[in-house]
Amino acid sequence: EAKPLTDLAIANAAVMKPIGVIAQQAGIPEEAVEPYGRYKAKIDVAKLPVAKSNGKVVLVTATSPTPAGEGKSTVTVGLADALAKLGKKSMIALREPSLGPVMGVKGGAAGGGYAQVLPMEEINLHFNGDIHAITTANNALSAMIDNHLHQGNTLQIDPRRITWKRVLDMNDRALRHVTIGLGGPGQGIPREDGFDITVASEIMAVFCLATSLDDLKERLSQMVIGYTYDKEAVTVRDLGVEGALTLLLKEAFKPNLVQTIEGTPALIHGGPFANIAHGCNSLMATNTARQLADIVVTEAGFGSDLGAEKFMDIKARKGGFSPDAVVIVTTIRALKMHGGVAKAELRTENVQAVAAGIVNLEKHVETVRAFGVQPVIALNQFVADTKAELDYVLTWCEKNNVRAALTDVWGNGGEGGRALAEQVLELLDEPNHFAPLYDVEQSVIDKITTIVQTVYGGNGIVLTDKAKKDLLQIEQNGWDILPICMAKTQYSFSDDPKKLGRPKDFTITIREILPKLGAGFLVCLTGDIMTMPGLPKQPAALQMDVDEKGNAVGLM
Ligand code: ADP
Repeated sequence: EAKPLTDLAIANAAVMKPIGVIAQQAGIPEEAVEPYGRYKAKIDVAKLPVAKSNGKVVLVTATSPTPAGEGKSTVTVGLADALAKLGKKSMIALREPSLGPVMGVKGGAAGGGYAQVLPMEEINLHFNGDIHAITTANNALSAMIDNHLHQGNTLQIDPRRITWKRVLDMNDRALRHVTIGLGGPGQGIPREDGFDITVASEIMAVFCLATSLDDLKERLSQMVIGYTYDKEAVTVRDLGVEGALTLLLKEAFKPNLVQTIEGTPALIHGGPFANIAHGCNSLMATNTARQLADIVVTEAGFGSDLGAEKFMDIKARKGGFSPDAVVIVTTIRALKMHGGVAKAELRTENVQAVAAGIVNLEKHVETVRAFGVQPVIALNQFVADTKAELDYVLTWCEKNNVRAALTDVWGNGGEGGRALAEQVLELLDEPNHFAPLYDVEQSVIDKITTIVQTVYGGNGIVLTDKAKKDLLQIEQNGWDILPICMAKTQYSFSDDPKKLGRPKDFTITIREILPKLGAGFLVCLTGDIMTMPGLPKQPAALQMDVDEKGNAVGLM
């Protein structure tokens, strides 16, 4: 058996078109294209022809992630390529990879096999610098806060009640809790602080939900950074630095244009995680793609309980559009793991385990339908899958009236996604009854309970004393009319990452509720979820190198 080519080897062998050619193909006028090297560009959306943004939106989500891997980005890219093959004007909107998972567990996040966005190396490593700009804006605010304390603290900020944290685009558990300002009177006011990963920061969320530079500035000004000694909220506006923060972000705020291996245009912009943040690319990118293309294929992170729920309840609600179809990616390997098989045993045929694990897929189908949208299952084929296993899933879908297509875009690019694209096109012709799950006017408890019962299949919620206190403060400030952004483990519908498949009879523990007024949602921390991940015992970084010519090695 020949060893399959790595994602990196396939990406390096692909011949890219100059980015100006891709822009022209996408209908972007030359004056709107700001090239970053030969194969990447930023798009100045103000210079696009005024057009109605009415492209249809296809959302790609997946069954609950397992270490076996599902292939959402891969299918997103391959589906857009397949739609292009069928003569449709398609465009991709994706998130920018964070270096945390790239160096930690994933190695890369630009699709895989023959369904990748290019230049893969640059997209995975720093890209056009947007995440660095967001990191800098976030930490500039931290510096302003500490300087304010040092220079006399006219706002009377209580150093023990500062909620704004510093950030870094890396998995670094040692920075979760730090003490700053040590060393005497010249070194600032000592206080406890901590670091989050950049993709969990409120600035990332604001960046992804803002619709213009003015809107970006307004949202940044509304962010709460902490409280005074009298427990009054202090905002960025009180500090007067929203202008400076917007200035730091102005170039990053322009969507990035790249191409797939098959030359389909892709906008990659913004990158919040879906477990600890809202999990979808920027509204700027989605709106721009809807303006330029007839069909936009976009991805929300992790399973439908996380990214897709937030896509529907936060992003689509804010953006005023509806997802027209949802693709749920699943694999035989993942279903086997949900059915109780260990990672080392995945290559052995086991139809029984597939049958046991399909309850996970069943729940994701129910969730998508709860939003009034119909799903198509993309059964992402791996080389070791057997016919009996694949047939089991396809027959299950038929019996349960769920559209499904066997998909091999990893091995065959757009051609391998033809059946999936045909199913999606049929769905797009059907009426759509999309509606968010809850009304923002409902109480916070009602909104969270609705998500837990309808999306996770749990019994209800338990609030810790800390969360109860947070809720009281949120209600007293009138912030309770915001949508909810759940922070939960991606591995399980419950808040216990070990409960795979479709757990029943569980409650979700709400540990803390954090008001994010700039982003416009309330973050609920559940279980043991952390906003700064750690590295695994064998980080992906151990495989990485660069050769004497400057080529990446081991980036998947
Ligand atoms: P996700 O977006 O769900 O995290 P990705 O699309 O990034 O998943 O894929 C994760 C990894 O799995 C990539 O390295 C990709 O090359 C690999 N992969 C995806 N689909 C397949 C497949 N059908 N066969 C083999 N490897 C695959």
